[in-house]
Amino acid sequence: MKILITGGAGYIGGTAVEIMRGQGHEISILDDCSTGHVDTIPKDVRFVQGSLLNPSEIADALTGTDAVIHFAGKSLVGESVDKPALYYSVNVGGTRNLLDEMYKAGVKKIVFSSSAATYGEPLQIPIPESATTSPTNPYGATKLAVDQMITTESRTRGLAAASLRYFNVAGALHCDRGWLSERHNPETHLIPNILCSSVENPVKIFGSDWPTADGTCIRDYVHVIDLIDAHIKALDSLQNELHEIYNLGSGDGYSVRQVVAAACEAFGHSIATIDSPRRPGDPAVLIADIGKARTGLDWAPTRGIQAMVADTLASFN
Ligand code: UDP
Repeated sequence: MKILITGGAGYIGGTAVEIMRGQGHEISILDDCSTGHVDTIPKDVRFVQGSLLNPSEIADALTGTDAVIHFAGKSLVGESVDKPALYYSVNVGGTRNLLDEMYKAGVKKIVFSSSAATYGEPLQIPIPESATTSPTNPYGATKLAVDQMITTESRTRGLAAASLRYFNVAGALHCDRGWLSERHNPETHLIPNILCSSVENPVKIFGSDWPTADGTCIRDYVHVIDLIDAHIKALDSLQNELHEIYNLGSGDGYSVRQVVAAACEAFGHSIATIDSPRRPGDPAVLIADIGKARTGLDWAPTRGIQAMVADTLASFN
């Protein structure tokens, strides 16, 4: 299949490029490289350095495409609180442009990177796809707006679509060009922060008074390779005029202290931590109900927290 991967120069999109080209798909990438890295793009892949805000660049990238996997977008919760207009412009406006150009080009299949941030503060754990969506930050609001836009698009223009709501993505893929790792500046995510910590620069534990067994927040981590496997299955499952939404996580929760313990094991030595105030906007517990992806996509995560920490560590070295 000829597949356009938007955001294919990024951590998750780049992992999808590598795995899907390895399966024989013909891949094109559209990426503005605002956060992605050109050096991760394989030489044999068609690359359009362009923006979702520029319809003619999207049209160029879509040439000859059968389907789109749409990763491109702004993805940091804290930044979205500071710059909501940027998030609405790129995530919502940019995806509007993409859907319009897909319609013009007759491309009728899309798999979209949505987020657990669409749910907001959960009323039930684990969280099913039928849970109330009430995002607590602009990032989640823009992902929800795009999910709703895609639902309309499937009904009115016959789009075959899937939104995949990621919980916490971790781990890395090793390929012939080295590790495709998460590289943010500044880094905000827990596992990279643990791996970059030192005695002088201990890991801040954001809140130790949460209503959880050890007082720290609980999250659901999924390995990036398992995550991409779900995208491939979602792409194969698409049906005209239908928009399906699936949660992607492991279905298990790990507290911040449990993740630190897993990292200590991978490192082979202790890790300095410092109890710090809660981070604004953090819910106490987020765990996915992944029953729909298990049955609907015949998908199951295969790599646990140890593999995620070990692979992230290897990708940093
Ligand atoms: N966290 C932490 N210290 C850090 C980074 C994150 O204690 O340096 C906590 C954060 O409050 C949350 C969990 O680790 O409870 C996962 O945060 P991350 O930023 O990795 O992902 P998020 O859940 O925000 O998408």
